[in-house]
Amino acid sequence: MTGYPNVDAPSPELLQRCVHCGFCLPTCPTYAVLGVEMDSPRGRIRLMETVWQGRVEVASDPFERHMYGCLDCRACETACPSGVEFGKLMEGARSQIEATRRRSRAERLIRVIAFRGLLPRPAVLGTFAQFSVLSRRLGAGAVLRAVGKRVRVARRLADLLELVPARASARKLAATYPALGTRRGRVALFVGCVMRAAFADTNAATARVLARNGFEVLVPETQTCCGALHAHAGERADARVLARRNIASLEALEVDAFIVNAAGCGAALKEYGWLLKDDAAWSERGARFAARVKDASEFLADAGLSAAPGPLAARVAYDDPCHLLHGQRIREQPRALLAAIPELRVVPLEEADWCCGSAGTYNVTQPELSAKLLERKVGHITRSGAELLVTANPGCQMQIAAGLRAVGAPVTVVHLMDLLDRAYRASGDTGAG
Ligand code: SF4
Ligand code: SF4
Repeated sequence: MTGYPNVDAPSPELLQRCVHCGFCLPTCPTYAVLGVEMDSPRGRIRLMETVWQGRVEVASDPFERHMYGCLDCRACETACPSGVEFGKLMEGARSQIEATRRRSRAERLIRVIAFRGLLPRPAVLGTFAQFSVLSRRLGAGAVLRAVGKRVRVARRLADLLELVPARASARKLAATYPALGTRRGRVALFVGCVMRAAFADTNAATARVLARNGFEVLVPETQTCCGALHAHAGERADARVLARRNIASLEALEVDAFIVNAAGCGAALKEYGWLLKDDAAWSERGARFAARVKDASEFLADAGLSAAPGPLAARVAYDDPCHLLHGQRIREQPRALLAAIPELRVVPLEEADWCCGSAGTYNVTQPELSAKLLERKVGHITRSGAELLVTANPGCQMQIAAGLRAVGAPVTVVHLMDLLDRAYRASGDTGAG
């Protein structure tokens, strides 16, 4: 019996919810591309069951290949009539692999650098982001690609450099953004790790939009990375360390909500109760904290805009980040906010609910499949006729922007909060910060 090397392994209760009906299959991007049952949600669940039954080793090539071949996009979860919580199963399966598999020294080193050296350290991550942007500007990609004809790792680094945005904003935000107009409450902004290191302008835009709608915004300095990428990669112990740090530093704040503008972080923060479920001292605190987390679009649409945005005459398409749509079931709220901007024309986008191939670190670990999904996404965007592609997650922004750049498509990728902020500025309201 090899099924339970750790507490995070998929439980029989969760596994047995699957009745193997196959309703989820048409929604699975990896199944659509590969056409293999074991790369479908149903196939992956069956494989997890065979591990639980002790018929397949955790540390076996098929198990690892099919588990890490999954995007963890959770489209199957939305489609499932039996309430299968696929994200929990997949994170559990990966955690089982990491607890069992002996990784090479190089792989271990990369994981330690990424998960402990970079993500939880904003200053180091910020420097890394600036260095990456500079390297791209100086043409390091072309050099790496030339070397990459013989050295595979250089080719991979060149691919990664393509994802780096033209500019990374890492400026420090004000500690407080006062509410403008009639005060409606107080919130705390979760600034994230990648968002803080490369998309600080979007964080500032989010704070301005909230403030413009009557909410005082606190930006607590003590917060840290949410641990989403750690959990997706099976490093749940590290994710728990970060979760406890965030809870301890934020839970006492007297705020109406913890606002997050990155879909992946939001989904992870909302699952702190589950992440800490086996820790008697933290499980309740985790669940209480999670219940206070709101995506910025969810919070604003539910509260209602108290200030009218100005007009923006542009054709936009909205692409659902998987961890907003499938991870948090937030579909209508971003669309409602777009509809509130006068003169904005929202055009339909085919397969807006499909993963772009970014999926946490998927574009790093599974470059070929990620590229196929990106190509599909870019095709839909260019055919939509949109000038702006709106989304709400840094990984999606970087991936889609790189795909559009590669084909020379004249489409700009923008975060929903940046667009709203732009609309408020168009109304002549510059707000604070
Ligand atoms: S995950 Fe849900 S939809 Fe998919 S096969 Fe199982 S029960 Fe059916
Ligand atoms: S999470 Fe996404 S890629 Fe993975 S099985 Fe479900 S639909 Fe397919």
